[in-house]
Amino acid sequence: MTIIQMPKFTPTAAKLWAKLSGEHKKLILSNVWCGACKTETTIINVNGKAERGCLLLNGDCIKCSGKVGRFVEDDWFV
Ligand SMILES: [Zn+2]
Repeated sequence: MTIIQMPKFTPTAAKLWAKLSGEHKKLILSNVWCGACKTETTIINVNGKAERGCLLLNGDCIKCSGKVGRFVEDDWFV
């Protein structure tokens, strides 16, 4: 449950990600909607990029290996 791989982020995205607490990181990575599973899932093989102060995460669903993504709004980083 607690095994989360090191994400592959762009330098800007990594800077944003570093601002989050460990709790928030876990929360974000384990609350990603999967359209195939029709439920919240954990995202694995994460890569991330920054977009206008927000963070865009892309990766795979831990359950079905389908592509999932999550947008982390900039108010997470204040
Ligand atoms: Zn899934």
